[in-house]
This record gives sequence, C-alpha cells and structure tokens, in this order.
Amino acid sequence: MKTNDVVTRSERTSSGPASPHLEVAVIGAGPYGLSVGAHLKSKGIAARVFGEPMAFWAHQMPAGMLLRSPRVASNLSDPDRAFTLEAYEAASKLEPCAPLPLDTFVEYGRWFRHQLGSDLDQRSVLRIDRDTHGFRLTLQDGEEIRSTHVVIAAGIGPFKRKPVVFQNLSPNQAIHCYEGRDVRRFAGKRVAVIGAGQSALESAALLHEASAHVEVIVRESHLRWIGMHSWLHHMGPISSLLYSSHDVGPLGISRLVAYPNLVSHIPLKIRDRIRTRAVRPAGSRWLPDRLTAVKISTGRTVVGAVASGDEVALTLDDGSERRVDHVLLGTGYQVDISRYDFLPQQLTRDIEQLDGYPRLAAGFSSSVPGLHFIGATAARTFGPLLYFVAGTEFASRELISHISSNR
Ligand SMILES: Cc1cc2nc3c(=O)[nH]c(=O)nc-3n(C[C@H](O)[C@H](O)[C@H](O)COP(=O)(O)OP(=O)(O)OC[C@H]3O[C@@H](n4cnc5c(N)ncnc54)[C@H](O)[C@@H]3O)c2cc1C
Repeated sequence: MKTNDVVTRSERTSSGPASPHLEVAVIGAGPYGLSVGAHLKSKGIAARVFGEPMAFWAHQMPAGMLLRSPRVASNLSDPDRAFTLEAYEAASKLEPCAPLPLDTFVEYGRWFRHQLGSDLDQRSVLRIDRDTHGFRLTLQDGEEIRSTHVVIAAGIGPFKRKPVVFQNLSPNQAIHCYEGRDVRRFAGKRVAVIGAGQSALESAALLHEASAHVEVIVRESHLRWIGMHSWLHHMGPISSLLYSSHDVGPLGISRLVAYPNLVSHIPLKIRDRIRTRAVRPAGSRWLPDRLTAVKISTGRTVVGAVASGDEVALTLDDGSERRVDHVLLGTGYQVDISRYDFLPQQLTRDIEQLDGYPRLAAGFSSSVPGLHFIGATAARTFGPLLYFVAGTEFASRELISHISSNR
C-alpha cells in the first residue's frame, strides 16, 4: 500500500464508518517512536505515530536531571542524520553542553518531531485488537484505526519496580524516582532514597540541593561510578577498540553491545549476563561531588516499612530504624508487557514471552504476525543498547528494512 492509499480522516467523515487503514501504527512518541516515524515517512510508508511527543521525559523524569548518556549517544535517528542534537542546538542558538540537561533533551525531541508533520497523532491508544487484516486500534476519543503492522514503542512507564516491603505504603509515602515529582516539594522533609543506580543517586543529589534531609540506603557494599577511568576513553584508536561511542557497558562489552544483531545470536544465558553487567547499578562520575554531604548507608537492606501517622518507620537488616517523611524508590524497573494496559489479555497471551519480555525475531517481530516491539522491551533479544536512546538508529533501520521487504 502506498501513502496515498491511506483513507484520511476527512474521507472517513464523508464516507461514514470506514476507518483509516495504515500500513504501520507506532504506539508512543518517545525517542524510539519518533525515530521510527521519521524513517517510515522517508520511505513513503503510510504510518502514524501516536502519543504526546517526549511525554515520559517531560512529565516523569526528575526535574533538573542531567542525561547520563554522552551527547553522541543522545541523538534521535533520522535517515539522513540531519536532525541531530547538534543541528537542534545550532537552529536554536544554544551552546552545546555536556552532560545534557533534561529540558534541552525534551525540547530537542519536540523539535525533531516536526519532520513527522501529520504522521504524528497526539492521541493515546486505548486498546489494540487483532483484526482480519492486521490490527484495530481504539484511540482515546473512541475513533478506531486499522493498521497492518503495529510497533509498540511505549517505553518503561508501567514497569516501575516496587519491592514488596514498600507495598503497604501510600503513593505519597513511597514514590518512584520517575514519577515526575519536582524535588522542591521535599524541602525540609526527611527522605530515604533506596537504590544505587543513576536514578537513585541523582535524585538524592537533587533532593539534597533542594534542602531535603536525605539518606541513601544501598544494598551493595559500595557505590559504583561510571567512567571513572576517563583516560581509557582518550587513547584514540585503542579507545575505539575498547568502547563504542554509545558508551553502554564496560570495556569490551561496550563494543559487543553496539552490534545488536550479533548479540541476538548469543545463547540467552550469556546474553542475559552481558545485559545485566552492562546496566548494573552505578552513578555518573559527576555525581560523587554532589553527594559528599549526603548520608549513604551501604550494605543495608530495608526489611520493614510501616506508616505511622505522617511518618514512615523503616527497619534495616542490622535492626536499626529510620523515621522519614517519604521513601523515594530508585529500584529500577522490570519489563512485563502484560502491564501495558492497551494490550488485551488475549493478545498478551498470544505473544511468546521470556519472563515478561516479548520473544523477538528479525525486524523486531513478535510471535504475533505484524506486531513489533522496540526500546527496552527488545533488550532481552537484542541486548542492552535497546534500553537507551543510542539504540534508536539500529531499531529504526532494522524495522524499516523488514517492513519494506515484506510489503
Ligand atoms: C531516570 C531515568 C534516566 C534515564 N536517562 C537516560 C539517558 O541519559 N540516556 C538514555 O539513552 N536513556 C536514559 N534512560 C532510559 C530511557 O527511558 C530510554 O532511553 C528512552 O526513554 C527510550 O525511549 P522510548 O521511546 O522507548 O521510551 P519513552 O521515552 O518512555 O517513550 C514512550 C512513550 O510512549 C508513550 N505511550 C505509552 N503508552 C501509550 C499509548 N497507549 N498511546 C500513546 N502513547 C503511549 C509514553 O507516554 C511515552 O512518552 C533513562 C531512564 C530513566 C528512568
């Protein structure tokens, strides 16, 4: 089907109940959805990307955060590499800076999306059902759209991990790091931050700078910092052999994860080890200085968390107690596609899975013909690059080449 075969919304209105039929519907307008949309458009494939551009980054990331990924790994992907971060900065007369502030990245994504024009539809998708010729999407206003392929680029929003011990605390007492809370509202409050990864440690720094009384509680015996051996990155061609420019994972592994197709052929057990090693909890090297005045308790696990009036009483595994106003969970996320509320149970059951991740083949295809998953949900198959913006280039090219060759 060519672009001009698409039944537009105005045709639908004049011709009664016929609904638009797309070749590709992309769910989610984050870095992955926007990048794939740009590639689809350049190929003249009848596609639409659904969702508010950069919504997760704009509304759920902690205000004031800085990107952990290097600038070169923070580009969205377009076929001519014309809509880079640098091009955005030049067009907006911004001085390039590193690390990249969250607001700049959000604005970059919103600038990037303009190339999609009417291929971007800001409505949310409420539900996806299988149909005789592919899929039927129900949008937030009740409109139905049909599509031959559906690409799920819906991110990690629903996958927040809340350890059992905190389950009984109210949402105001136990807050996940990426619920978009402005840390300024915690000024003067006692906050326990749980976790040793970038989200936890950066949130702790932001809270401290906003005059909260912070303690970080970490299971690990010590904190890890990314990129502390910066000289290894400045040895010219030798560094290029050790690290890819994406900078995902440690020396050596970084090179391997830059080739997701190669990674997908590694036996699952080893692939899992590579994946977890590449994204083990660690903070950026610009964080230690910001945390010098923050209390950090390492080697401690929270074994009890009880609400007591406005306070939360935490019991640690050494028997000690903490009384705080809030607990901030930097406890990461766990991919589980059954938590995407737009996927009906029957459809989720039809998708072959590996512990919540879809089992994928070439072209990011799931076991349901025409249904594709990109971004973090594809990391179990294609490796840890897919957790990051740096994976948008591979995902877009691979997906479009698959769809183009199966038209
Ligand atoms: C605190 C934190 C810091 C991070 N820092 C970095 C970093 O520095 N560099 C990096 O590369 N990665 C970072 N990441 C990882 C980051 O989440 C991914 O790189 C990135 O968001 C992947 O893009 P995406 O398009 O897959 O997902 P998202 O950016 O989450 O986009 C998915 C979009 O889909 C939308 N959506 C969901 N359901 C629907 C629906 N039914 N209808 C319409 N739209 C829908 C969501 O609202 C969302 O906007 C960080 C993550 C966290 C939590």
